[in-house]
Amino acid sequence: MEEKKILEVEVLETSYDMIKALKGVSLSALSGKLTCILGPNGAGKSTLLFTLAGILNSDRGKVIFDGEDITNQKTNDLVKKGLALVPENRLIFPHLTVKENLLAGAYARLAKERDTVEKDISTMYARFPVLKERSSQLGGTMSGGEQQMLAVARALMSKPKLLLMDEPSVGLAPMIVNEIFSIIKQLNAEGISIVLVEQNASKALEIGDYFYLLDQGKQIFG
Ligand code: ATP
Repeated sequence: MEEKKILEVEVLETSYDMIKALKGVSLSALSGKLTCILGPNGAGKSTLLFTLAGILNSDRGKVIFDGEDITNQKTNDLVKKGLALVPENRLIFPHLTVKENLLAGAYARLAKERDTVEKDISTMYARFPVLKERSSQLGGTMSGGEQQMLAVARALMSKPKLLLMDEPSVGLAPMIVNEIFSIIKQLNAEGISIVLVEQNASKALEIGDYFYLLDQGKQIFG
């Protein structure tokens, strides 16, 4: 039986003004699998995730998500369709509390599903006990590892089918990196499809199912 593709990227090109950061990237991710995108600084990994998440527009190429052409759709529409990004350096809201950050992750569902959202926050607290302990602490005062957990939990609050993760290990101590990677593996085992961008190739190789290597805006392996 052929496995279902949750994501197909076809010769994607994205630029910053005159600089072409993606020069025709093609790749796919299978449903329920953990697909890793590796590559050095400046390879275009973050640009790729920004383009997939609707933060940047592509110049050419196509993105198919869950069977639908979503090329250059807006981020909030993509979140509603089940695509969530955990950005590099977490980018949690520093002046909002932990709980408010979690609520922000569910903004697309807040109006209609307030009760379910409260239940989902309890689920996040059970999964990440430190977030429960710190629910009224300002996001910006949490440690790097705690902020990474908050960023993951915030993305999960949108109930994603596909989680895009940009270098979750960046700037974290090895022990915390191990914890974050075991959380990623666990989420994937629970059925969430994941596309993980990493510079920490050895850690990614431990948990990934499929691998692509990007360099200078093109994939050179995968
Ligand atoms: P890193 O691992 O260091 O985060 P990366 O693989 O994620 O690198 P990108 O951040 O996607 O790489 O950068 C790809 C290219 O696009 C680089 O040449 C970078 O200098 C350029 N670039 C990224 N952001 C911008 C921007 N806002 N304006 C102009 N050029 C940019």
